[in-house]
Amino acid sequence: MNPPPSPQPILLLTPGPTMLHPRAAAALSWPMVGHMDPEMFAFNDRVARDLRTLYGAADEDFTALLSGTGSLGMESGLANLLEPGDRALVLSNGVFGERMGEMAARLGAEVSVLRAPLGEPIDPEAVRRAARAQPPKLIAVVHGETSTGVLNPVPEIAAVAREVGALLSVDAVTTVGMLPFKFAEWGVDYAYTGSQKCLSAPPGLAPVAYSARALQVVAARRTPVSTWYSDVSGMQGYWCADGGARRYHHTVPVQLHWATGEAIRAALEEGIAARAARAKALEDAVLAALGTVGFRAFVPARWRLPTVLAVTLPEALDDARLRAALRERFRIAVTGGLGETAGRIWRLGLMGENARPEYYARLMHALEVLLG
Ligand code: PLP
Repeated sequence: MNPPPSPQPILLLTPGPTMLHPRAAAALSWPMVGHMDPEMFAFNDRVARDLRTLYGAADEDFTALLSGTGSLGMESGLANLLEPGDRALVLSNGVFGERMGEMAARLGAEVSVLRAPLGEPIDPEAVRRAARAQPPKLIAVVHGETSTGVLNPVPEIAAVAREVGALLSVDAVTTVGMLPFKFAEWGVDYAYTGSQKCLSAPPGLAPVAYSARALQVVAARRTPVSTWYSDVSGMQGYWCADGGARRYHHTVPVQLHWATGEAIRAALEEGIAARAARAKALEDAVLAALGTVGFRAFVPARWRLPTVLAVTLPEALDDARLRAALRERFRIAVTGGLGETAGRIWRLGLMGENARPEYYARLMHALEVLLG
């Protein structure tokens, strides 16, 4: 047998993928079953129910695991909810907001992008003005912008979407599973995450939620969804959400279902309020500790995302060299900035299993050694 490519574990303090939850890791080696096996269906039914709780979705909403990463969650929602020529208002304050805009444009939508400066949240009043001036069919927003560590005010933006009668798509990749998410109460129509983020399962699945209203909009489309794979009706058939017989759509990644289902269960058993408190307490502690070696918060406290801590490096530090030394000498992975913030900031993941004080104590010890 060949040795594993990474024989000594690497401590991932990155904003995804996160360290695996032990229950997710164990479930990866559960026995193989067929994707149309009754045991698989029974497991999936439980996952769909658990996802409804995790998202705060209503009984009539549709929750499921989409085979693909968070980006497919983003793209397939847009592909179902938008038709060529539809108007989309995309809110962007970082890399993932820009990605949504590009995807919507490729789908043939008429896209307006409303931007906020990097490190600042989207202003709901600006959204209201833009949406009233040109009412969109859909508003898309990233709840927690991973590229800058900013939390966007989704409940206020959802209120605007309701006022103008627009659908609302929310990227919950760095929030759901770790922070309270109120899909039905806020009036969200579509939300998605990635299995490797707040849930600490392996990458490869996008847990999604569609509102009943969104599904009606899809059912009333004038044109077919542009890609066969993304058409949500295929998932509805497989997940038996339409009340009919279960229909084959594609071969789902069975082991990823086991692992993600277990990770969702573990999150619900711990409780979302407890997980949010764990992230917040650690964020404060890490910021205070990093402050002693010259790092500063990139985002003011009132806008800060509790699950991704963005910190500005001290002037004298060489970002690439320091991260390479952490990786080589201490086997600790830390992520730098993305796009405009590259070289200037670090982004530390406080999602799921990453939000553990003992891991950050290891980072602080390594920094003390390296910075003397
Ligand atoms: N949206 C956000 C906010 C993200 O942070 C990411 C990944 O980091 C994605 C979408 C894309 O997810 P994936 O890399 O799983 O495709």
